[in-house]
Amino acid sequence: MYKLNKDLHKFSYKNVNLFQERILLRTCLNVTLDNEGKMTDATRFYESLPLIKELALKSPNLVVTAHLGRPEKRDPKLSFKNIAAELQKNFIADGISVRLIEDLDEETLEKINNNENSLGKRVIYLVDNIRFFPGEESKDKEERLTFAKKLAGLADIFINDAFADYRESASTYDVANLLPSYLGPVFLREVESILKLNTSPRPLIAILGGAKLSEKLDALKSLLNFADKVLIGGAMAYTILKANGIDIGKSLVETDKIDVAREILSNYANKIVLPIDHLISSDFNLEAAKNSIYTQSQEIPNGMIAIDIGKKTIQLYSEEILKAKSIIWNGPVGVFEWDISAYGTEELGKAIQSNVQSYKLAGGGDSIAAINKLKLKGFDHISTGGGAMLALLAYNKFPTLDIIVNK
Ligand code: AMP
Repeated sequence: MYKLNKDLHKFSYKNVNLFQERILLRTCLNVTLDNEGKMTDATRFYESLPLIKELALKSPNLVVTAHLGRPEKRDPKLSFKNIAAELQKNFIADGISVRLIEDLDEETLEKINNNENSLGKRVIYLVDNIRFFPGEESKDKEERLTFAKKLAGLADIFINDAFADYRESASTYDVANLLPSYLGPVFLREVESILKLNTSPRPLIAILGGAKLSEKLDALKSLLNFADKVLIGGAMAYTILKANGIDIGKSLVETDKIDVAREILSNYANKIVLPIDHLISSDFNLEAAKNSIYTQSQEIPNGMIAIDIGKKTIQLYSEEILKAKSIIWNGPVGVFEWDISAYGTEELGKAIQSNVQSYKLAGGGDSIAAINKLKLKGFDHISTGGGAMLALLAYNKFPTLDIIVNK
């Protein structure tokens, strides 16, 4: 778990006289798009908007960077063209123009620096998908730094509001080394809400689900250290059950993680809670899943695949959830995409909601999808940075935060 020994608010963008500073903002616009390029999940867009608006209205010059997807080079499908147009719609009433910056050549840099704002216009410069620029994630540190210098040259200060993009890159990390740097409201809220688990009331229960144990191993170990109980679901449960000598049929398993799972089981036997029954299917597809059945025990017959936790497990986990005073939830406990195997995730979501006294935190794309689908209410915080949330829980370093608070 990340340990913060400083007052985070000292690093808030609120400490800046925004009217005086030219600002470089790194935000998170990593939305999902359909084939026509229209936003299908715009949560992050709307989460980013208030700060963009506040800065655009106050700062003499605003340059915004963000990434979309994982392009290795320029890819028209992942351009910010539509997002810039969407952003523009939100600024018409303010008389502010959004300019999409596709290149950062000398001429464009000069144009941004010559600052149309001073000519009586108000402009937001939105740099196209920052991952189109080879310097952003280059393995060559010099190339990354050269690119960061280009970005930093456009502003007096840097504000990072992209909590979800926690890996070191030119626009999230190197620029913070070059400019006086501050945290935006989304970043602040995420860190504060997650670190509140350090002091929130006990018992603290974690529910961890999802596909791969390997991806959540460090977070799991950390949660086992500081939570009172960790309830495991999803495909990752089956590697641990196998390590415990339980027959798991042909359920998903990461064989190379069985040894470490065995170690975890022996170190944390009193904290780790595993499914005691399952919903099983003969094959991993929707047609087969329609004929799925519940097991009566923890064992899974040969040739069958677990696709959700069973009803006895739902009961057991719900009892634990109702006893909790703090709850953290990351990842679905079944194949949530199919209605038939979404039941476990939905029931646990409802149990969390009904524990009105507890501090409730959720994160990760599928947990958010479940919360939205069921219109669950009452969460104290829903993290839109699932991977970043796990990283903050797992390690005592978070580079994009460290570079700002430990300067
Ligand atoms: P993650 O992105 O790691 O949170 O994993 C989410 C994915 O795990 C979803 O796509 C689920 O369908 C998948 N998942 C959950 N339970 C199972 C299971 N028992 N077998 C296979 N996949 C699962």
